[in-house]
Amino acid sequence: MAFEKATRLKRLPPYLFQEIDRLKAELLRNGVDVINLGVGDPDLPTPRHIIEKLQQTAEDPVNHQYPSYSGMNDFKVSIANWYQSRFGVELNPADEVLTLIGSKEGIAHLPLALINPGDLALVPTPAYPVYNVAVLFAGGESHFMPLVRENHFLPDLQAIAPDVARRAKLMFINYPNNPTGATAERDFFRKVVDFAKQYDVIVCHDAAYTEMAFDGYRPMSFLEVPGAKEVGIEFHSLSKTYNMTGWRIGSAVGNAQVIDALGQIKSNIDSGAFNAVQWAGIAAIEGDQSCVAEMQKTYQERRDVLIAGLRRAGIEAQSPKATFYVWCPVPAGYSSKEFSSLLLKEAGIVTTPGSGFGEPGEGYIRLALTVSRERIEEAVERIRKLSF
Ligand SMILES: *Cc1c(COP(=O)(O)O)cnc(C)c1O
Repeated sequence: MAFEKATRLKRLPPYLFQEIDRLKAELLRNGVDVINLGVGDPDLPTPRHIIEKLQQTAEDPVNHQYPSYSGMNDFKVSIANWYQSRFGVELNPADEVLTLIGSKEGIAHLPLALINPGDLALVPTPAYPVYNVAVLFAGGESHFMPLVRENHFLPDLQAIAPDVARRAKLMFINYPNNPTGATAERDFFRKVVDFAKQYDVIVCHDAAYTEMAFDGYRPMSFLEVPGAKEVGIEFHSLSKTYNMTGWRIGSAVGNAQVIDALGQIKSNIDSGAFNAVQWAGIAAIEGDQSCVAEMQKTYQERRDVLIAGLRRAGIEAQSPKATFYVWCPVPAGYSSKEFSSLLLKEAGIVTTPGSGFGEPGEGYIRLALTVSRERIEEAVERIRKLSF
């Protein structure tokens, strides 16, 4: 049978990690001891008390039926209470909180709720690829906001032409940031709210990494800024905070109309998150938080080993205050892809070329702190031997 894929799949940007994937597979076939710093997926297990809550609640037949579309009330209350205690942000669990099957699910569906064919969305670059793809799938167009070192990897809102800003329906931002590890403070979020009000743009802040921060630093919620709830929503996830990427649980919170629109899309596509996973999520949020402190300590140590090791190898990378990513400048004479391939071929280390996250990521590679301290020590030793 001959068939043609839908245009929306043909419009997907080219997949730029093919060469790295091919090389990695080849090295693994040849028995090379590959160190994978390529994927942003925690290597540590979900804390015990969360697993036990899932086991218990999976036994209860009440949880075997369809969950509520917008999420279990207890879970939404738990999220609202956490926002109050963690950020001082007031949320009404009834209409300002939505349970998601992981935050990626909500991010990917949001443009279907807001974007008409031809509408414009403001999308950072380099970035998590889902923002742009979700806009494309909704028939919209992305106007890219470059994140560059000179501006601390924050979008320069003043550089957006007024006619573009007026046409924009939606803006994505993400701090602490994947892939750059950059963080944003109150004055930036204030500017975003002002911009959104001036041009009637709905803001969507992806806050997946607020709890993965180091040296006592506490990233803020976009919703802490006065007026933020009038213009936008925030996506949160239990994936990175509690090593729960495989469980698929997150939330969208903020502006009730936007939450309602996203909920309308979702109720026509999925049937909500498994109640037992939501109960486990409650156990995560309301349980002992020493696991979070433990997680922060682990990544902080790994970060320090990697940054110090890179420095010994002659590579000066900035130490991130948050996220488990090191956004590492490439030595002179290499492109991102060339350097990433070289590390793989000559040192058996998988990294992600920055250009794969968008053109302004050229000149960087992303290293994820998702292997043990010992493996990071081994990796930096191999890099040092390459002598740059
Ligand atoms: C990991 C990550 C998420 C979380 O995705 P889930 O679907 O909640 O697992 C969201 N945004 C970014 C930028 C991420 O890196």
